[in-house]
Amino acid sequence: MLICPRCGRTSEEKEFVEAFCIDCYEFNIRLPKGLKVVLCKRCNRMNLQGEWQQLNRRKISEYVAGKCKGDFTGADCDIDTGACTFTFEKAGKRATLQRQVDLEKQVTMCPDCCRSSGGYFEAIIQLRGDMGRVEAEAERLGNLLAKKTFVSKIEEMHGGLDLYVGSSRAVSTVLHDLGFKPARSRKLFGRKEGKNIYRVSYAIRL
Ligand SMILES: [Zn+2]
Ligand SMILES: [Zn+2]
Repeated sequence: MLICPRCGRTSEEKEFVEAFCIDCYEFNIRLPKGLKVVLCKRCNRMNLQGEWQQLNRRKISEYVAGKCKGDFTGADCDIDTGACTFTFEKAGKRATLQRQVDLEKQVTMCPDCCRSSGGYFEAIIQLRGDMGRVEAEAERLGNLLAKKTFVSKIEEMHGGLDLYVGSSRAVSTVLHDLGFKPARSRKLFGRKEGKNIYRVSYAIRL
């Protein structure tokens, strides 16, 4: 049986790490200040270290763990409260430690959502043909495009649907990946930073 030299409790009352009880043992950990995760209230994506991406709680934990110093082997953080559970392996035993991390959650609107809510688009996908197939394709494309950009509106047109999409590059990539060879046409839309901006239409017959 062990007796903790700090508080006098025994290993029958408390879990021990080396010579100390788990409450008195000094885990080697240094927590950073001013960590921030930005969330978009519209698409629910997160901005971690400058990049907008799918919300992923494991990635947030990894990010926080990467900023903490110490000999812990794992970290699990709750983004809503900043409560983190650190795992230590000491003398072949696992111990966990709860700490509050200074993690600010900021809720805002990402640039894509700002543009999309303002009706911005760079590309139109014109799906034409049998309406059942058009609708199924619109859904599939919408899901794929949502991972890269946004669909700002879908309009029913004569004989099909028009999808208004935020990024023409994303449309090119997705259509190419799916093996589509759409008829492409472009219209000058304006100039940005000295470059011509085009709106591109992609016509697909199904
Ligand atoms: Zn103790
Ligand atoms: Zn967003």
